[in-house]
Amino acid sequence: TIPVKDVAEWKYTTCNYCSTGCAIEIGLNDKGRIVTSRGHAGADVNRGKLCIKGLLEHELFESPGRGRMPLMRDKAHLPFQPASWDVALDKTAAKIKEIQAKYGRDSFAVVSTGQLLTEEFYTLGKLVRGQIGTNNYDGNTTLCMASAVSGYKRSFGSDGPPGCYGDFEHTHCLMAFGSNLPEQHPIIYWRLKEALEKRKFPLIVIDPRVTMLAQFADIHLPITPGTDTVLINAMLHVIFKEGLEDKDYIARHTNGIDEIRTLVLEQYDPKTAQHVCGIDEDRIRQVARLYAKAPAAMSIWTMGINQSTHGSDGVVNINNLNLVTGNIGKPGGTSLSITGQCNAMGTREWSSCSGLPGYRALEKEKDRKAVAEFWNIDESFFPAARGLAQTDIFPAIESGEIKGLWLIATNPMTSMPNQPRIRKAMENLEFLVVQDVYEDVETNQYSHVFLPAAVWAEKEGCHTNTERRVNLTRNVLPPFADSKADFWIFNEMAQRFQDRNAIHFPPTPEGAFEEMKELSKGAGRTLDISGMSYDRIEAARGIQWPYSEEQALADEAQFGPAGQFDMKQRMDFLGNPRLYTDGVFQTPDGRAKLIPVRFVNNNECPDDEYPFWLNSGRVVEHFHTRTRTGKIGNCNKFSPTPYMELNPDAAQELGIEHQSYVRLVSRRGDAVVMVQLTHRVGRDMVFIPFHFHDCVNRLTLGLLDPYSRQPAFKQNAVRIEKIDQQ
Ligand code: SF4
Repeated sequence: TIPVKDVAEWKYTTCNYCSTGCAIEIGLNDKGRIVTSRGHAGADVNRGKLCIKGLLEHELFESPGRGRMPLMRDKAHLPFQPASWDVALDKTAAKIKEIQAKYGRDSFAVVSTGQLLTEEFYTLGKLVRGQIGTNNYDGNTTLCMASAVSGYKRSFGSDGPPGCYGDFEHTHCLMAFGSNLPEQHPIIYWRLKEALEKRKFPLIVIDPRVTMLAQFADIHLPITPGTDTVLINAMLHVIFKEGLEDKDYIARHTNGIDEIRTLVLEQYDPKTAQHVCGIDEDRIRQVARLYAKAPAAMSIWTMGINQSTHGSDGVVNINNLNLVTGNIGKPGGTSLSITGQCNAMGTREWSSCSGLPGYRALEKEKDRKAVAEFWNIDESFFPAARGLAQTDIFPAIESGEIKGLWLIATNPMTSMPNQPRIRKAMENLEFLVVQDVYEDVETNQYSHVFLPAAVWAEKEGCHTNTERRVNLTRNVLPPFADSKADFWIFNEMAQRFQDRNAIHFPPTPEGAFEEMKELSKGAGRTLDISGMSYDRIEAARGIQWPYSEEQALADEAQFGPAGQFDMKQRMDFLGNPRLYTDGVFQTPDGRAKLIPVRFVNNNECPDDEYPFWLNSGRVVEHFHTRTRTGKIGNCNKFSPTPYMELNPDAAQELGIEHQSYVRLVSRRGDAVVMVQLTHRVGRDMVFIPFHFHDCVNRLTLGLLDPYSRQPAFKQNAVRIEKIDQQ
């Protein structure tokens, strides 16, 4: 709505909400004030488009509730007192040391996010792994994509989505598992829609709810929640039975075919599987044939797979389907997890949460040695296995095993399942430091120290998006009031732990990026960013790893130095859009693993007392726990309150009216919510957007996946109680 003539200057940056990774230009007027945002027309990801969140992202800079200065208090819930940065950081460092001296190194935990910049993740990892030395360090990304990480590692020997958005333009069949792109990742959806308009191919959507994506599908499979592995096994049964597998690919690039074939042929006939997964046997046969006969077929998935007690197995089985049909590493044939947060990939790659930087593993002695040598510390400082995941840290706080916690850009008082237990855990902490852009974030009620962080384009560094594209955020403005870039806060904290390990911390994000490049070098490594530089990334509007020094030199010889690329030539100059194109995986023998997946029904299923499935998901206007979008006028205006989708037939039986309020009750707690009648949900399901405080997560149980420790947010049982509307 701001006329472009009011804009004196456009500044390049990258959107800080979802993992699509849209390139944004921020418009400043002649007084240096930010007045608008627009999509960058030259960026391959979004080609000038933005969704509502990106279009209004500039409103964040001056939004209410922002932290202005560090705050401290002796006890949670007492009034805060302002403090200088030195005092707040000294107190935080002293409390960490005091708790660790009293109860042991692992009695202090750190939980971060998927929303910092990559250099910040790397610096935080160096501080936590190399100096603070606690093994109880994780990101809130365990709530969204840990199952994808685990599944990729089990199948391919390493994390890293092997495909890209460009695969939409080459595929002949696309299956979307639990992924509602129009609301979750609107610009990825726009890319898919463009591809579908140019060249028709079947879009198959597997989702228990008639989502917006399901409405556009050629085939919608309304699956019983949590049974995706049964459907995939039944599809594999059909593929093997009818000889539709890619025998040559299986023989050359995989191990384990006999076990998986035996399992699915003996136990997953569609005739019996249909009674578990709720999809008619003929439909299962139809989609299996469509997928296997397509010259190239791809699968995408999001939280419908990841947030489940079978999350990691679900990912492994999607990988099985693609390996068996030869659909990995070829244009239009891939297994593409659509990640959640803007830089969830950055934390996977560089934060050291579940390992060491650059996809190195704590369990491998050579990796511990390599990083210890690089940081110039003794390798015995590193543990030989990862510690607790975020979802295990809170129970450990509740039991008294963990006494202190540092939360960085995460809001467990809204985001974690089973809120009554999280509340108890927070009350049990001896010391909590909250580092966030907003001081009114719900979790801050429990803190002893609050550290105000700069937001998004008030700082500089990289994001990696879903398709492994590293893009740059330039700092458009200085940090608000006395807030500071997270990078600065970590570096300052590191100075207070030099007595443990005297490690060098580069003073600028670009310096940290240069360190990461060094660490990424090595023969056969997929996560190689050594050919990137800030200038080259900005000129190319993002580069997809792997991108080695050799490749960069060859590109420069062809196209000229970074900053002088011709825009048309640049489009051929984006790193590597696909992994495993040569069929060589990151396993010891280079072959992918076909892993048989058996289904065990361990969900909290509806019963007589709690007869409805409780499902949750996103709305397009909001991001995560609304700490940011809840402050933006139009995002809030279009989606101001939580609501519950209820099937009209179920409503009629219960005597419930549209837009009335009901009490929803689970074994954990209750929540009052407004009813929206819709056929999007079946007779036995209700759906609530997860963004709102004191709502859906008062009800969720959050059983954990055994491999990824990711909670099953979407498979819980509830009952509905009418409320007297007077
Ligand atoms: Fe930002 Fe995602 Fe919207 Fe793109 S699709 S503008 S990255 S929120």
